Amino acid sequence: MNRITLTVIIVLILGVIGYFWITDWSQPKQFEDSNRPLPLGMEEGSAGKSSQAGSATTGASSDELLPGDISTILDPSKNVPLDTTPESITVLVNRAFLLPEDYIPAGLVKLNIDFDTTVESEKYYLRSEAALQLEKLVRDAKRKKIEITGVSGYRSYARQKAVFDESAQANGKEHADKYCALPGSSEHQTGLAMDVSTPEIGNVLEESFGDTKAGRWVEKNCYKYGFVVRYPKGKSKITGYKYEPWHLRYVGLSKAKYLYENHLTLKEMYNVSMNKENKEWRNDL
Ligand SMILES: [Zn+2]
Repeated sequence: MNRITLTVIIVLILGVIGYFWITDWSQPKQFEDSNRPLPLGMEEGSAGKSSQAGSATTGASSDELLPGDISTILDPSKNVPLDTTPESITVLVNRAFLLPEDYIPAGLVKLNIDFDTTVESEKYYLRSEAALQLEKLVRDAKRKKIEITGVSGYRSYARQKAVFDESAQANGKEHADKYCALPGSSEHQTGLAMDVSTPEIGNVLEESFGDTKAGRWVEKNCYKYGFVVRYPKGKSKITGYKYEPWHLRYVGLSKAKYLYENHLTLKEMYNVSMNKENKEWRNDL
């Protein structure tokens, strides 16, 4: 072996050692969500071009709180840490975990889909990330001759309180407590939830939506757009809510896929134990 060959071998060995030195193998790999929607303005979706009700930015998405593939950290001894950060797209909101009275999501945009009414309202708005995906969902359904209508999206704390107080005044507090969402407990305040229906049943929010062509398509496909049917059939004891085939909640593409494939609700993902909020099943209206 001559001197040149020896030098080449030494350089190669040093190179390999150097590579491993620079690459920190102890760090966990970042999970990339390849289906993550493009930032506003980079996608043709009309939601991004619509008027802005809040800040022009989508706000820091707390999607990063969890890895893209939740199954990597889910095993019988480990649960996903409970997310109660209001602006996080995976936030858990219910009667036990209320949103602050002054929480208004950033980046609300008006959806460019058909609604059941045209009266001016905040209900046509969703956070931009969810809005883009819902518009895609409605467009794709339409291509299959399935009509999906928006009924109610964003609902502010103030509006929820007005609805609750009105019901309490008309029917008593007990009735309101049973049939209305307590202010701060509605997912609609996150700007990530949308109630949908279809002309086939006159765009009403009833269980029968689940048996329509649109309802069945939504149940099977909404995860592809980052949504879940948040209060599914047979899960009332867990969710604390009656079956609501119309209530779609955006949780992001990877989480929606994970929940759909494993037949889990958001609450089960966090393994939140049963508590007094589940004594009676309610509607998130
Ligand atoms: Zn709803």
